[in-house]
Amino acid sequence: MKNKNILIYYPDTKNYNPTPPYESLMLIEALKDFSERIIFVDAAKDHFEIEKLVQDSEICIITTLIKYTSITINFQLKDGINFSKILKNYKVPVVWTGMAPILLNKSIEENCPDDILVKTTDENFLKIFIENYTRNNKNIKEIYEDTLSDFIEDKNSFKKFGNYNFEKISVEKYIHNNTFNYLATTGCVNSCSFCSVPVIYKKKWTHNSIENIINHLRFLFENFPEIKVIHFRDDNFLVSKRFIFDLFKEIEKQNFSFTWSCQTSVNILKLYTQEDLKFLYDHGCRNISIGIESGDDYILKNITKSKTTKRDSINTLKKIKNSGITVSVTSIISFPYNNKRDFIKTLKFLMRLKLKFPSLSLYCTIYQPIPGTEIFNEIYRDINTSTDTFSNNIWTTKKEKLKLKKFETFYFIFDNPHFYKLLPDDLAKDLKFINLFFSPLIRLRFLLGITSNLWEYSLVRSKLNKIKQKHGIDLNYSLSDIGIRHLTSNFNYGFNKS
Ligand code: SF4
Repeated sequence: MKNKNILIYYPDTKNYNPTPPYESLMLIEALKDFSERIIFVDAAKDHFEIEKLVQDSEICIITTLIKYTSITINFQLKDGINFSKILKNYKVPVVWTGMAPILLNKSIEENCPDDILVKTTDENFLKIFIENYTRNNKNIKEIYEDTLSDFIEDKNSFKKFGNYNFEKISVEKYIHNNTFNYLATTGCVNSCSFCSVPVIYKKKWTHNSIENIINHLRFLFENFPEIKVIHFRDDNFLVSKRFIFDLFKEIEKQNFSFTWSCQTSVNILKLYTQEDLKFLYDHGCRNISIGIESGDDYILKNITKSKTTKRDSINTLKKIKNSGITVSVTSIISFPYNNKRDFIKTLKFLMRLKLKFPSLSLYCTIYQPIPGTEIFNEIYRDINTSTDTFSNNIWTTKKEKLKLKKFETFYFIFDNPHFYKLLPDDLAKDLKFINLFFSPLIRLRFLLGITSNLWEYSLVRSKLNKIKQKHGIDLNYSLSDIGIRHLTSNFNYGFNKS
């Protein structure tokens, strides 16, 4: 490698994922000896001319997300493969890192057989690899093998590269609804069988240093006044009570305060007392998202290894609510077990929760088997699956998807009699009648647990679409084809303007 650039490419997440590319930031930190030659592109956020970018590149590292789970890895896989094919025309070697080469390697190997697939979470590997690559003229595959043979993996890369520099990206592009997604920890202590995290992190959970976290957050708040909320996008932020308490006590000691939200699991939150939750509230926590996972006891037992139960979920929701913190729940529907009974059971459980907590935000994703996970290995074993991992769930019917869409766009919104008040005045005025008229009917339906014969939706659909069109609201629900995804404030409850 002489004078040409090292291109770090973060494949397109189609703007469905506002989280900054932490994987790339840590990699840039690991490669700081080469900083003058590094060009970074986030395909979803940055404007770039492919030809110019590629002509000036000596090597390309495609960094896919891995520090947390997101269904948008599927978009990244497709875009990464397309980008790699372009690079091949220019004879630029490609190295993949992150979740794609670890879990979706079959697809990459089939489409891009010459690419190097790095299967470690430790950025130090790339540091040594690039050093070796610059030093000798061997074939890139040989250099990779040599690097691999001497490498000892450290699963805690925060230790080495946690002081990465936010100035390497355009921070303002990642601010959404005055919120910035930050990552303080990675991994998880649980081993849910549908999840990629235990496969990658082997039930280990690590965090960045308190010093790095505070420095980052100070930088963000001091330089970007439009940031009002930090969302800790970590898969399981609250795993260690000691870490959480130390972090927020230190933040308080430094006379620094901010509003924040986070994600965690029911079994972890069970360990927090009402007083602990009050501490979180007093230190800025305003929303906790918990994974209730399923409304079917049989499924819960299998997928969470009995770590989550419906009763625990309800008790946890009550506890959070009593502390003044609002709650969001995430769940997964349509598993390939139990004759798909979980579809109705989970829907009914969500109805029950909405009845108890009308302002609850909820996500309910149609189960997508992720290669390498425990369930995937059970279902597919060595069968070749599609590159489009969204299409690997072949048992969920169109009718079932449509049913979820009706719940997403109508029932789980207008059950709350106060929903219209969350919207801008002119829109609220047009929706007030629909909301107030249907809310008691929907709540009666929820009480009776009826998931079929959705006549209220049929009655109101065309009127609702007309109102949405009048107000220029986005009717394109492409991501919601994979479940109930728009039902959070991030998506403005599906009332985003086009
Ligand atoms: S709690 Fe389960 S689903 Fe959530 S990150 Fe941990 S292993 Fe994955």
